Parts: sequence; structure tokens; C-alpha cells
Amino acid sequence: MQLRDSNLEKLTGETFDVMIIGGGINGAAAAAALAGKGVRVALIDRGDFASGTSMHSSNLIWGGIKYMENHDFALVRKLCKSRNHLIKSFPSTVQEIRFLTTITKGFRYRPRYLWFGTWLYWLIGNGFTRIPRFLTPESIKHRESIIDTREAVGGFEYSDAYLHDNDARFVFNFVRTALNHGTVAANYVESLGAQRENDAWIVQAHNVVSGDTFDIRAKILINAAGPWVDEHNALSKQQTPHKHAYSKGIHLIVPRLTNHRRVLAFFDDEGRLFFVIPMGPRTCIGTTDTRMESPAVHVTDDDVQFVLDNINKRLTLEKPLSRDDIIATRCGVRSLAVKSGSRKNRDFLQLSRKHAIDTHEGDAHISIFGGKLTDCLNVGEEVVEEVKRLGVTISHPNYRWYGEPPAPVKREFMHQAQLMELDAMTPADSSEPLSIRLWRRYGAGALAMLEKIREDPRQGELLIEGTEYLRCELDQARHREMIVRLEDFLRRRSKISLVVRDEEIRHSPGLKEACEILFGDQAKARFDEYFDRHGDHGAEAPSHATEKDGAPHFETLKW
Ligand SMILES: Cc1cc2nc3c(=O)[nH]c(=O)nc-3n(C[C@H](O)[C@H](O)[C@H](O)COP(=O)(O)OP(=O)(O)OC[C@H]3O[C@@H](n4cnc5c(N)ncnc54)[C@H](O)[C@@H]3O)c2cc1C
Repeated sequence: MQLRDSNLEKLTGETFDVMIIGGGINGAAAAAALAGKGVRVALIDRGDFASGTSMHSSNLIWGGIKYMENHDFALVRKLCKSRNHLIKSFPSTVQEIRFLTTITKGFRYRPRYLWFGTWLYWLIGNGFTRIPRFLTPESIKHRESIIDTREAVGGFEYSDAYLHDNDARFVFNFVRTALNHGTVAANYVESLGAQRENDAWIVQAHNVVSGDTFDIRAKILINAAGPWVDEHNALSKQQTPHKHAYSKGIHLIVPRLTNHRRVLAFFDDEGRLFFVIPMGPRTCIGTTDTRMESPAVHVTDDDVQFVLDNINKRLTLEKPLSRDDIIATRCGVRSLAVKSGSRKNRDFLQLSRKHAIDTHEGDAHISIFGGKLTDCLNVGEEVVEEVKRLGVTISHPNYRWYGEPPAPVKREFMHQAQLMELDAMTPADSSEPLSIRLWRRYGAGALAMLEKIREDPRQGELLIEGTEYLRCELDQARHREMIVRLEDFLRRRSKISLVVRDEEIRHSPGLKEACEILFGDQAKARFDEYFDRHGDHGAEAPSHATEKDGAPHFETLKW
């Protein structure tokens, strides 16, 4: 909490160049880009960072192959280039993965036609990934025995990329980069609205934890509130050429269905692509695409049944998946940028998934609409251009604000890790050597962890059973990751609550110690708060946008 407390004090102490509302991928990337290039930035989120849509994605960094069906080739080209750039810039985090797609009888396109499409996709993506392959039903079965190929007429394999850890961690690493470059950021601070006075914005901020309210001043206001952009624009009296339409998407996380590291792609009963995606020791299945009138969404019984029915029809599991197999659910809302005045009721699945940035020059106000995780570097760069246009000096215009640390730093880390035989300490059931994991999560920050483990080997021990988290990582999280609630750690800095059932987490002997490291004398309160909201059912707690509706109550632990 120390980092947050000191940042809260700093938020009131100056007039910032830029104030960003919303710490999802758009706000985080914008903050990292601006701060890296020398702009004074403040960033707030009314929940935790990445607690909105950015923690509910499919974890894919992809060129959007499905948008080719709408002939949106410019978007596909842009996303493919972004994907390639992210793979090159974050090689430990954003990794190429094969997509095995099965086509069944009666589908609107024949497999060879779609296979041709994958070649076009590959070419649009500069041939950066492995080449596509055509597959007969037999070769599909040979590759993945769980796929039901009885109705299959063929298929193909092509490449895109996925996030090895998870989306929220990816976002937080941009927040961390922004902090490293001087951004004053705080989570659990809500903007109640903003007004322009004497060439500056005054944001009425509300500290959600303490209940205090205070003002933050900035020359430029960036509204990166994701699905709540329109809501915040109304609060700050902004009219914009774009507005948002909303689409809900859910995922189910179940025990691992296959040991192969590839995505299985199918077309659901409504003809839309859905995926079976590896997620550490689990499998993530989704997603859906349901039009919504507002950004407040939750998983319904029908959503769950739809996903279960569709997956069970396409796999030959020994026992079909049922609700009992669900370890966790994810439910998010896509915000789709719609130009004001365009036909609101045209098929919303055809709406472009491009982002849009609307700038009101007179008011020095920027709104970011739509977007994708895949597009984050473009959003960061475009926001810098807009801020420059509004008159703020960009003192380091060529600074590269993203990417893993340079090769010599990695070599030094790997060398030190080798000298101390770090990988020999890898827990037996771990999915990868410790050196690889620590480098991916913390980059140059992992060097300090080696020092800690050298000083005290207990720091290299696994803390919570089944989670791949070491004691020293918790210590680092406490100081550098602004963890206010236990959920921030279990669900967003890590993906523990997505892959381990809540009852197992709750009874893990290491969890209490983890709480003590993270929260000190607040440990019991934070533990109780988490399980009061979640119980042992393992389902996602309602997002902060809906939690006022009332959360279920469960018994609390005797500390
Ligand atoms: C089901 C699903 C699957 C997806 N899959 C992919 C994928 O595989 N790949 C991909 O590239 N993209 C994917 N996307 C799209 C991607 O997740 C989103 O485009 C992206 O996360 C949106 O980020 P954002 O920053 O705009 O919004 P958000 O992540 O929602 O962030 C907005 C933030 O603003 C905060 N906020 C709102 N109001 C206020 C206020 N008044 N004061 C302070 N803070 C406020 C919120 O708390 C929130 O954290 C998917 C989306 C969905 C729904």
C-alpha cells in the first residue's frame, strides 16, 4: 500500500500535463508511452488496474483472421503488424501458437477455400509466422484425438499469438513501466467527473478505499474508461463523433483438455469462431458475442449452457464437460466504436473492431474508443501524437517505451541464475524452469529476486500449493505492484484464482503467509474480504461496475 499512499499524496500536488481516466490496456499503454517520452502523467482507475474488460479477453494477440470475412483487410493488416511487433518486443510473453481449425459438413465455406484465406492472412502478416497447413479429418484426429472428426470435412492449421501469462498481468506491466518513468498512478480512485477551468482540467476524484474526495489538475484529460467512456464524457460535458456499442463475451475455465500447446478453433452453432485455449494447467473455452445495451454484464446460465453444448458437440471427451468441471468464469464487455449517425441497428457483429481516438482541441480532451490488447502499441503512439498536437512538449520523442529489456540484461540474468543453479530449485510440478518464468514476469526486476534467494534460500520456495508463486515474488509484489485487495493479486497480478479452485486456495497453508507479506496487519481483513465476496464457488466476483448490486455472503475463516 505504501506506493499507492505516496502516489495519492502526489496526485494533489501539481498540475499534470496529462490525466488519464482508466487503467485498462488503453490507459496503461497511453501512460507508458507518454511517460516514457517525457510527459508528466497521472493515471487513476476506480477499481484495480485491468479490472474492466482487459481482464476478460481471450488472451490472444492476433491479426483478427475473422474480420477478413467482412473484407476489413486494412484492420487485419494493422493488427497483424501489431501482433508481429508484440511478438518481437515481448518474446517471453507474447508467443506464436498454432490454431487448429476443424470444418464440419454444411459449413458456409469449404475447407480449401478457408485454407486459401489462411494463406492470404499469412501474406497480409508479412509471412512472419509459420506457414498454414491443410488438414484432412484423419490428420486432425491424429494431431488432436479429442476432436470429434465424424462430421469433419477437413481443416487447417495457421499461426497467431497468445499471452503466456494473462491479459491483466500484461496490462499491469505497462502500468509498471509508466510508474518507472514517473507516472503518478493509483488504483481504486474514481473520477466523479471533470470540468475545465482556466485552461486546466479539474477532476473530482474519490478514493474508493478511504472514501475521501479530492481534486486532480491537468492540462489535458484522456478518457480511457473503456466501456464507460460515454458515461464519463457525459460527466465532463464532452460531445464526441464516436459512441460505444457493447458486446458481451464469456469464457469457461476447465481442467486441461489436451496436453498440446495449441489453440483448437471451431465454428459454433451460430457460425462464429470459438476457441479452446491453453491456460497454464487449465483450458479456457470461449468466447460468445452477445449484443448488450449497457456495459454492466454478468455470466448467465444460458451463456454457460451455450458454451458447454457447443464444446461437447465438437469433442469426444470420455465424459462431457458439465458445470461441475468449471473452475472459473470470465465475463467481459467489448466496447465497439460506432460513428454517431451510422445505422445503429445494422448487424453489430459486422461493426468494425477498430479503435478510434476523438480529440476536442478547444477543451484539450481525448477519448479512446474500442480497441484490442493487440492494438496497444498503436494506441500508445497515437495518443502521444494527439498530446503533442495539443501543445505538450514531447521531450524524448524517439524513446522506445515498450518491450523486454535489452539482450545483455537478459544474458546477465540468465548467467547469474545459472551460477546459483536456480533452475534446480524449480518445483517438480512446475510448467517451466524458474529462470524463464521469473524473467518473463519481472524482466530486469528479476535480478533483485536472485539476490534475495541467494541471501535466503527460503525466498525461492513455492508459497501457495499449485500456483507457481515464490515467497520472494510476494515480497516484490507488495512493494511494486500496488495490491490493495487479495483479488488484485489472485486474479490480476497472477492468474491463481483462474486456475486453482477457491476452496483449494482458501485452505492452502501458504495463503495466510502470502496475506501477511502482502498486507501486514491487514492480512486477516483482506483474506476475509476476498472469501466473503467469492465464497468457495470459484466463480468470478461481480465487477466493480455491478458490485453495488450486492455480493453473496459466505462464512469467514477463523484466522
Ligand atoms: C470476451 C472478450 C474477448 C476478447 N479477446 C481479445 C483478444 O483475445 N485479443 C485482443 O487483442 N483483444 C480482445 N478483446 C478486446 C480487449 O479485451 C479490449 O479491447 C480491451 O481490454 C479494452 O481495454 P480498455 O482499456 O479500453 O477498457 P477496460 O479494460 O475496460 O479499462 C477501462 C478502465 O476504466 C476504468 N474506469 C471506468 N470509469 C472510470 C472512472 N469514472 N474513474 C476511474 N476509472 C474508471 C475501469 O475500472 C476500467 O479498469 C476481448 C474482449 C472481450 C470482451
